[in-house]
Amino acid sequence: AKALGRNQHHAYSAELNKAARDRLQLEVQLREAAHAGQFELYFQPQIHAESGALVSAEALIRWKHPVHGLRLPGTFIDVAEDSGLIVEIGEWVVEQAIRTAAGWEADGLDCRLSCNVSPRQIQRPGFVAHVRNCLDRYKVTPGKIELEITESLVMSSDSATIDTIAQLRALGLSIAIDDFGTGYSNLARLKKLPIDRLKIDRSLIQDVAYSAEARTIVNAIVSLSHGLGYDCVAEGVETSLQADILSVIGCELLQGYSIAEPADEASFLSWAAARASR
Ligand code: C2E
Ligand code: CA
Ligand code: CA
Ligand code: CA
Repeated sequence: AKALGRNQHHAYSAELNKAARDRLQLEVQLREAAHAGQFELYFQPQIHAESGALVSAEALIRWKHPVHGLRLPGTFIDVAEDSGLIVEIGEWVVEQAIRTAAGWEADGLDCRLSCNVSPRQIQRPGFVAHVRNCLDRYKVTPGKIELEITESLVMSSDSATIDTIAQLRALGLSIAIDDFGTGYSNLARLKKLPIDRLKIDRSLIQDVAYSAEARTIVNAIVSLSHGLGYDCVAEGVETSLQADILSVIGCELLQGYSIAEPADEASFLSWAAARASR
């Protein structure tokens, strides 16, 4: 029994070692990817629920790995966050998003562009300066830019982070709370936040067509945010039935596969052109 125990222990630590090695390898590859320019932004539209018009797009990072092909953020964002690489990658995302939005504006496409900002990124001194610098450099109307910050970060934040969010908003861009409804929200705190909109998490949108309870919750979130002066985006809208229900509830913006999947810039722009000429 003793020998068996030891073997199990060996197998277990071999597993652990492998996990640690894989992680380290991923970290090294991520570092290389950043320098080799292997990241790309994909874009997913957000439409006005009533008119169907394009209002905004969310930039979502993709890793074009030379061997493994297209990799989704779920496979690397956590490692990037834990290793601190997210700061470098995130700065690239912000700059690339602002550059892209400036291009759209110059081409006469009236569309806001939002990008995801990680906790580590926003808490770093110099983040506001970086954003301001990009806005100036690419000469985009700041109102064309939105930053998405997760509910869990906003609700757990110290006053310094809230102050940073206010400074960002003072630059003229808008702020959305991402994944709303998944974490614990302090309602008293919600009313004092320097933000513009709430993105209702996909987990709540999923059941809206089948569950009266889900509808009640989404309805309450929408009225709550309107009462506080924010508007709402539903994410993960996968069916036209969900879209219709959300429109009736009064959720302003819709995003999800039933409208369009995230796509590279060229595909997104042809989708936008087709939509504009409907
Ligand atoms: P998120 O910010 O909540 O982004 C929405 C995710 O839902 C995206 O996954 C999008 O492709 C997916 N999605 C959109 N519509 C639907 C739908 O109708 N059904 C379903 N099932 N999914 C839908 P993606 O692109 O894989 O990104 C996953 C997460 O990675 C994002 O979640 C965000 O937290 C993070 N992420 C993506 N890009 C960045 C980035 O540039 N910086 C940072 N810090 N995080 C990022
Ligand atoms: Ca997001
Ligand atoms: Ca989200
Ligand atoms: Ca999410």
